[in-house]
Amino acid sequence: MSELARESSTRPFVRRGSFLPFALPTIDEEDVDEVVDVLRSGWLTSGPQIQKFEREFSTEVGATAALALSSGTAAMHVALSALDVPAGKAVITTPMTFCSTAHVIEQIGCRPLFVDVEPDTLNLEPAGVRRALDEYGDEVAAILPVHYAGHPVELDQFLEMGRSHRIPVVEDAAHAFGAAFRDVAIGEVSGQDQRAVCFSLYATKNITSGEGGVLTGSEALVQTSRLWSLHGMSRDSWQRYGPRGSWDYEVLMPGFKYNMSDIQAALAATQLRRWRSFQRTRTAIAARYTALLADIDEVETPIRRPHVTHAWHLYPLRLHLPALTIDRAEFVEQLRLRNIGTSVHFIPLHTQPYYRDRYGFERDDFPVAAAEFDRMFSLPIYPRMSPGDVDDVVAAVRDVVAANRRRS
Ligand SMILES: *Cc1c(COP(=O)(O)O)cnc(C)c1O
Repeated sequence: MSELARESSTRPFVRRGSFLPFALPTIDEEDVDEVVDVLRSGWLTSGPQIQKFEREFSTEVGATAALALSSGTAAMHVALSALDVPAGKAVITTPMTFCSTAHVIEQIGCRPLFVDVEPDTLNLEPAGVRRALDEYGDEVAAILPVHYAGHPVELDQFLEMGRSHRIPVVEDAAHAFGAAFRDVAIGEVSGQDQRAVCFSLYATKNITSGEGGVLTGSEALVQTSRLWSLHGMSRDSWQRYGPRGSWDYEVLMPGFKYNMSDIQAALAATQLRRWRSFQRTRTAIAARYTALLADIDEVETPIRRPHVTHAWHLYPLRLHLPALTIDRAEFVEQLRLRNIGTSVHFIPLHTQPYYRDRYGFERDDFPVAAAEFDRMFSLPIYPRMSPGDVDDVVAAVRDVVAANRRRS
C-alpha cells in the first residue's frame, strides 16, 4: 500500500509538521571553536588534546586512568586483549545488545556464551550467569555485561562472580556514561586489575566525538591497553615527534590501530564539560514520557531500580500486543507516518544469521530476549528535544494506540 493510500484509508490523524529524528547530537559553537583550533594547531593525531581529555574523563568518572580510543568497540577489543583473555574460551554476554559486543569476543578467538536477560531491565540476569558459570566452569574466561539503555546491571554481583572465578569483568558501558550503581559512577575503577569499563562516543551516544571510545581501568591495565591500542609501540607519535620526542621505539606486541585523534578529543572534551546538563535534560524527558504515557494501558514504560542512576541513553517502550490489532513493525511505521522517528534496541544477537548459524541457536533459546524484542521500540530521547517535541511523541503514540486498539 502506498503512503497516500494508507493515509487516506485510515481516519485523520495527529501529525507533527516536520520529522522528529530518532537521535541528534548536541553540538554548539564552543564545540566547533575547539575543533577548529585543533585544525589550525598543526597537530591532528593523538597528542595534547588526548592527554587533557583523558585526565578530565578519568576525574569525571572517578577512575585512576582513562584511555581514549577510536570507538567503543575498539575499547572492548583492547580490554579483552590487555586482560589476556585466552583464545578458545567462552565469554558470557547478553543477546540484547549491539552486534559489536559479541563480535569482539569472536575477534579474540572466543565464543559468546549468551545468557538471557531480566524481563524488567533487559539486562543480563545474575542468576543465569551464575548457572552458566557452574555449568561451564573453566571454559568461561570473562564476563561482558552491557548496561542496557543506560540502566546499570547488578554490578556488585557480576564483580563478585568475576572475583570468585578469577576471571575479568569487562563492562560495555556504551549507553552508560553518567550512570551510577549504588552511588558509584559507572567507570569508577581504581585498583582492580581484572576489570575494564568501555564507553562509546559514537554520534548518538550521551556525549560524542563523532566516533570514539574510552576505556577506564587500573593504571596498569590502562598502560597495557595503551600499548595494545597503538601497534604495541613503546612510544606514541607525540612521544616521538613532539617537542621532547625521540625517534627510538620498541614494538612489544602485535597491537591494533585504535587511537583517537586530537580533533576528536577536542570535541569529546567540550562535550564532557556539558554532560551534567545533557544528563538533566535526558532525565527530564524520561520523566515526562513516563508521566504522560502512564494512563495508556497498551504500552509499558521502562523502569529504574531505586539504587541506580539511569543515564537514559534510550527510552525503550514495550507494547501490550494482545490489546492491539497491529504488531510492533506496523506501530513503528504508523509513528513514522506521524513524523516521529524511532528505532529498535536490539534485534537479539542469537537470531542474527551469523550467530544463529554458527552456533545453531533457536529463537526461544533466550525466551525473554526473543519475546521482549517482538514488542519493543525506542522513543527519541536527546537534549535538543523540547518539551513540545516530547508532547508530540506522546500524542502520536496515543493516536496510534487509539486507531489500533483491539475491541473486546
Ligand atoms: C554503540 C554501541 C557499541 C559500539 O560503540 P561504537 O563506539 O560504535 O563502537 C557497543 N555496544 C553497545 C550496546 C552500543 O550501543
